Amino acid sequence: MTADQMVKALKAEGVRIKEHRSWRSHNRNHKGAWGGVNGVVIHHTAGVGSGMADYCYDGTADLPGPVCHAFASKAATVYLVGNGRANHAGTFANNAHQAVIRESSTHPRPDAAEPIDGNTHYYGIETENRGDGSDPYPAAQYDQVVRWAAAICRFHKWSADSVIGHKEGTRRKIDPSFSMATFRKDVAERLSHPAGWNPGGTSPEDDMPIRTSLGKDKSQSVPWGEWTAVTWDVEHADPHKQHGDGNHPGYLPKTSSWADFNGRLRVSGMEPGDQLQVRYEVHDWKNGKSTGVWTEIIADHQATPGDQFVSVPFSKGLKKGQHVYVAVKPIPAPERADAKAPSVTDGRWAIRQDG
Ligand SMILES: [Zn+2]
Repeated sequence: MTADQMVKALKAEGVRIKEHRSWRSHNRNHKGAWGGVNGVVIHHTAGVGSGMADYCYDGTADLPGPVCHAFASKAATVYLVGNGRANHAGTFANNAHQAVIRESSTHPRPDAAEPIDGNTHYYGIETENRGDGSDPYPAAQYDQVVRWAAAICRFHKWSADSVIGHKEGTRRKIDPSFSMATFRKDVAERLSHPAGWNPGGTSPEDDMPIRTSLGKDKSQSVPWGEWTAVTWDVEHADPHKQHGDGNHPGYLPKTSSWADFNGRLRVSGMEPGDQLQVRYEVHDWKNGKSTGVWTEIIADHQATPGDQFVSVPFSKGLKKGQHVYVAVKPIPAPERADAKAPSVTDGRWAIRQDG
């Protein structure tokens, strides 16, 4: 991003920025490559005080600045301190880096080996905090960091899974001292709305969650090697009639909003060596027909002995009228290609929608 693009994107996202000193031309580009960029890294400063913006700009003799691209103060101002390569990430593990590139929903524990130059590939923000686990992050400050990350993801058309904590790129670090799973969820929620979105709303009714609980009691055979939608046959609660009738497999939201699915399936008839993929499908729906489908694989399960219980959580912004399916694809071990197809049963789905 150019400096102008950065300023424009951050302002649109509601980031309160201060352009600090000569940040537009302040970088480490003379020491190494900057780009292609793949993601953003969240840090805490491990120190607080009035000189932190200058520290982030200048760095130290051992670690010259800029030591990040942006600094989020406790008072919830985001200082822009660097534009280009910055000394914030150091080296990264390849498995962590590849998970960002794939925008994987899981971010593995980083390998010990660190062949990746993180300062080439990542934007970084320093969040003012002692980092001792007891120093709180004011809500306004945290919100600014979420907005900063979301603005860059939105510009690059990245998902929230392009955001990692420093502690997720390398074993050398422990920052930031908050949950990155929650942080990514907060970024994802922003990305499901237009850039100017403000969470909450003035009327308490705006935030009433809708809860629906679907289940699956009857066994359903699922052929090897094909995506098959799971069919719901039990309705524990559906106050808003938001899923289809009878054996309709989908969930049909009545409002455009954010939705959390917490699901679990029991799969029988698989053996070690077999594999089960699970994905969500979001279908645009017009005149009783699917007119477009978005999918995300959220479980890639290696079979263990006995029945498999597969947990399949999922969060996404949904538009009114879109259908959400859960589909499974079992893949047999090569020597079991002729084995009987497995079956799915005992599915439970709690769906919470903020509308
Ligand atoms: Zn860090």
